[in-house]
Amino acid sequence: MPVVFRTPQTDSAPTEIVLQLAIDRLLHLKRDGEIWTESEERLPWTTDTVAVGGSIASTLYEAMDSSAKAVLPAGARQQLTWSLADVFEYKIDMSRDLQPGDAFRVLVERSSSSSGAVRVGRILAATFTLSGTELQAIRYASQSVRGDFFDQTGKSMRAAFLRAPLEFRRISSTFGGRFHPILGVWKQHKGTDYAAAFGTPVRAIGDGVVIRASWGNGYGNMLDIRHRNGFVTRYGHLRGFASGVHAGSRVTIGQTVAYVGATGLATGPHLHFEVLVDGVQRDPRTALRDRSGDPVPASERQDFDRLRAQMLATLESRAATAPTGLAAR
Ligand SMILES: [Zn+2]
Repeated sequence: MPVVFRTPQTDSAPTEIVLQLAIDRLLHLKRDGEIWTESEERLPWTTDTVAVGGSIASTLYEAMDSSAKAVLPAGARQQLTWSLADVFEYKIDMSRDLQPGDAFRVLVERSSSSSGAVRVGRILAATFTLSGTELQAIRYASQSVRGDFFDQTGKSMRAAFLRAPLEFRRISSTFGGRFHPILGVWKQHKGTDYAAAFGTPVRAIGDGVVIRASWGNGYGNMLDIRHRNGFVTRYGHLRGFASGVHAGSRVTIGQTVAYVGATGLATGPHLHFEVLVDGVQRDPRTALRDRSGDPVPASERQDFDRLRAQMLATLESRAATAPTGLAAR
């Protein structure tokens, strides 16, 4: 904790000590004779908005890191990467779905303190272009709508299922989202693997009922959840289950149900994930696609469309999506 002592030339002892409690909080201890008094000072933050645009060469981390360098420090770039993944967490699995050449744009609030610290605030709008198809997310709030993100059709970005069983921020950027299981050893492999550290929380991708939480041979500790639409999601190689999670328990979307491990046929810690429809493994990309949420109320649709047009125009004019690094072709 930085400390400053202020001692006037006429005195042998300091008359003021300033402690920096946080990037935006100072504690002043002032002495008058024998008496010390304390007061706290909040440093003012100024907020503006910045637009960032980039295209994917390898990972979202890498793309954000290189494209936001001029406007955000490293810590804030990582924070923005995570926030951006959160905005799209019902639509895009950022560790699996991105291809080289896919692009993003984001308009975000930036706060700067007089001490030079910079942090990112709320995302106001963002777009993702995956294989040429653009997905938009616009923050919208009104008296009847709590601040939330809506897509270009005016539907909530929230849906019945999350796109991935691990939070993107929990997946190490160094893995690059790729993981190779013991090919040829575990022949029935028909799932998606997420490399993550031992103990990383695994979340239920939708509301449901646990139908199995037990040992499953090659799967190691495995968990099956049945969802309302009849889908079953399966989570394997778990180190263990979250407390209270057993066959018959109800779980809600996003709830931590287990922890990443390497039980069963696994060379290292990772989560094996499957979506089963009528007992058959299906590609989560298609099985979970487009189950969109509630729309903006019809009476507010015009307001929303006006805001959306404004946000997109801002992104258009300010976030150049110049190809970076390997994506340049
Ligand atoms: Zn697997």
